[in-house]
Amino acid sequence: MSIAENLHHIKSALPTHVTLIAVTKTHPVDKLMEVYTAGHKIFGENKVQEMCEKAELLPKDIEWHLIGHLQSNKVKYIAPFVAMIHSVDSLKLLQEINKQAQKNNRVIPCLLQIYIAKEDTKFGLSFEEAKELIASEAFQQLQNIKILGLMGMASNTDDQTVIKNEFRSLKTFFNEQQKNHSANFEPSILSMGMSSDYALAIECGSTMIRVGSSIFGQRNYL
Ligand SMILES: *Cc1c(COP(=O)(O)O)cnc(C)c1O
Repeated sequence: MSIAENLHHIKSALPTHVTLIAVTKTHPVDKLMEVYTAGHKIFGENKVQEMCEKAELLPKDIEWHLIGHLQSNKVKYIAPFVAMIHSVDSLKLLQEINKQAQKNNRVIPCLLQIYIAKEDTKFGLSFEEAKELIASEAFQQLQNIKILGLMGMASNTDDQTVIKNEFRSLKTFFNEQQKNHSANFEPSILSMGMSSDYALAIECGSTMIRVGSSIFGQRNYL
């Protein structure tokens, strides 16, 4: 199937409360334009430089979501235009995002990335660390960021039970944290699910899925 057909196939089956992020990493801009002309304008990239280069070349009404690990010293490059940062995993990073957002006279929507997988390779905060961050005074002072929800990645396994349990644990934590909302913490978005597991993620309460290979085909490199 073509990229446009893949996109329609996925979107037509999505519940209305679920937002699709088309994960465009590693793909050239002509492929991204196929998605754009098919009517989809929400893109996800995992590297700052790649996102900046593509944003420069593509139409300005695209929403760019940064979904990969973010280093503090690179925040300044995306702060003027990024629509959402999914990968906030420390207070220090959040403080830098706040600082750069302030310079750009805006509020940057963010998600806290929570570590739910049984692997050493995934970034993110533990439930305890996330709770501490949200409760801290330093966090509450930040006026140019808003935490709109949580992001998580399940283990890279074929075992559906393991994946489901990880998604469920994040959903449970998300529900608990919704009671703690404050000026800059208003969680309504649960970003979980990729090509291999988004159906399961939606079943477990996801409201935002990040899908690459099911739209564009396999990536040739990481
Ligand atoms: C690459 C990536 C995805 C999409 O992965 P696919 O398996 O291609 O759908 C989702 N989330 C993050 C954080 C990614 O880096």
